[in-house]
Amino acid sequence: MASGANEARGAEAIAETFLASGLGLWIDGRDVPAVGGARRDVVDPSTGAVVCSVAEGTAQDVDIAVIAARKAFNAPEWRKLKPLLRERMLHRLADLIERDADILAQLEARDTGKILPAARYGDVVIALDSLRYTAGWTTKIEGTTITPSFSYIPDVQFSARTVREPVGVVGQIIPWNFPLVMAIWKIAPALAAGCTVVLKPAEDTPLSALYLARLVDEAGIPAGVVNIVTGGREVGVALVEHPDVDKIAFTGSTSAGQDIQRRAASTMKRLSLELGGKSPVVVLADCPVPMAVEGAAGAIFFNHGQVCTAGSRLIVHRSIYEDVVQGLAAAANGMTLGTSDDPQAQMGPLISARQRDRVKGFVEGALAQGARLVAGGTVPEGDGFFYRPTVLADGTPEMTIFRDEVFGPVVIALPFDTEEEALRLANDTCFGLGASVWTSDLHAANRFASGLKAGNVWINAHNILDPAVPFGGWKMSGYGHELGHSAIELYTEVKAITMPLL
Ligand code: NAD
Repeated sequence: MASGANEARGAEAIAETFLASGLGLWIDGRDVPAVGGARRDVVDPSTGAVVCSVAEGTAQDVDIAVIAARKAFNAPEWRKLKPLLRERMLHRLADLIERDADILAQLEARDTGKILPAARYGDVVIALDSLRYTAGWTTKIEGTTITPSFSYIPDVQFSARTVREPVGVVGQIIPWNFPLVMAIWKIAPALAAGCTVVLKPAEDTPLSALYLARLVDEAGIPAGVVNIVTGGREVGVALVEHPDVDKIAFTGSTSAGQDIQRRAASTMKRLSLELGGKSPVVVLADCPVPMAVEGAAGAIFFNHGQVCTAGSRLIVHRSIYEDVVQGLAAAANGMTLGTSDDPQAQMGPLISARQRDRVKGFVEGALAQGARLVAGGTVPEGDGFFYRPTVLADGTPEMTIFRDEVFGPVVIALPFDTEEEALRLANDTCFGLGASVWTSDLHAANRFASGLKAGNVWINAHNILDPAVPFGGWKMSGYGHELGHSAIELYTEVKAITMPLL
């Protein structure tokens, strides 16, 4: 047997042992049961079978975790740790993720239903890149020097400087679509800035974060710097309302983001909110049809459409509209769905029966409102929460499917005649997360790049993210950019220090 296969089998066995270990919360460097003793089942969405159970935290557990995070924030071994040593710790954590990449991929695939190669060569690699990139920021957090005038103090010269200080204890709340990537996007910049964290994974996908906690410990990061409280909405709300949490970093739905913003008002917590989207894919008349089809398929079907920047509105020039729609339908019909360990599978299930039924409801609603079904729209036989990749055509801006986020493998296509119309349709949304334009006309591409109202615009690409490129939303897609240098700004406060020069 090839050594790769041996390693994969070893990783599977280690993942199984981990799953059977009676996973608790991770607080102050230790696995602990939830105070109330409750547990929640973790389900493999590709089979519907229970994989294991994890502790179900409550507000009481959040209190304990916040105390641990505050103690760690104030402790000299973290607060006074020199930036280079903090950077080295983060690289050590990256080394351990690299060592255990196959195990993490196993856990991620079981937890989310995504196919194993996607978990191993997508999620784990993206998480690693992000961690290594962010580790480098540790030593590059800088301020400015200023010569103020103070014209009302005429005889004295002054000097001022700014420093960036860690914001403090951060509550981090993440969704289920990319659990490991989201955990790293949150934890890495917080630690690089010198914060400590209490992270709440999504209730459906707690596994990779709990495994990561053990690697954090092994990397020598002090106890209490990273705490994981698994559980439902109650845990998230407790973090948001906690008086000793200085900031909330949230990724999830716009409705939860709105609730968080309201609740955070009483303590004036810092917030960064990465919320939902309804991203347009605009195909101009000159785009070759095969390129448009491949691009549109990747934009909507990647991660089963459970992507906040999923290209869920396909806006195509009328001259190639039907060709692109039919090409995309053929691509959708040709996709093989299967369990995470099925080597033939190209796409996995949705995260839960609830989510599958929600997606199904959106498609039924779209058909009732006059959309044309071109591919998919069915729930395959068998266990697991599968939904066929679906192409709907002849959409209008009035349809719910055009306006609301589905978070599944469903695209609504509609034609346009003029550039102005395409731009108007693309921007006709309360969201502003991602958008792409497909053309070889450089000037048209630039006109769209400047006209599209979204935090991330791609030209002849969609859904590509890099740790060096800031990522975040406009409008109801939230605020605060993760990745790039912006991520450090999210986890630091500016302090201005002024003094007279004698
Ligand atoms: P969700 O908002 O229901 O849950 C996300 C997380 O927030 C979970 O951990 C959940 O337990 C917690 N939560 C829910 N309500 C809360 C509240 N009122 N207060 C505090 N915590 C609360 O979202 P989901 O269904 O898990 O994920 C899908 C959504 O996430 C989609 O809308 C998607 O667009 C969005 N998303 C956005 C990005 C981005 O970067 N913008 C990335 C991934 C997912």
